[in-house]
Amino acid sequence: MKCQKCGHDNRQSSKNCKKCGADMVPASSAPVWFPDWRWHLKTLSVIYLLLIVGFFTAKHFLGRLQPPYNIRQLPSEMPPWLNPKNYPAP
Ligand SMILES: [Zn+2]
Repeated sequence: MKCQKCGHDNRQSSKNCKKCGADMVPASSAPVWFPDWRWHLKTLSVIYLLLIVGFFTAKHFLGRLQPPYNIRQLPSEMPPWLNPKNYPAP
């Protein structure tokens, strides 16, 4: 495949000229993929569906944990220096 700029004979698979560095593949013929709105809708639906299913799966399994890991309050036996009730925010 000859370079259109300098005439140097390059390999068929090369994308740039070995001698002058010019592009061997015209930009217009390069396969470029532009996703349309249907692709975006499908991809975003899959992502949101996975997030929603993952949230409820995590919620289900976290709710089945043994006490005290299944509660959201601080346990009463918590050391007082770790309890935020003893140290109100300024
Ligand atoms: Zn060239």
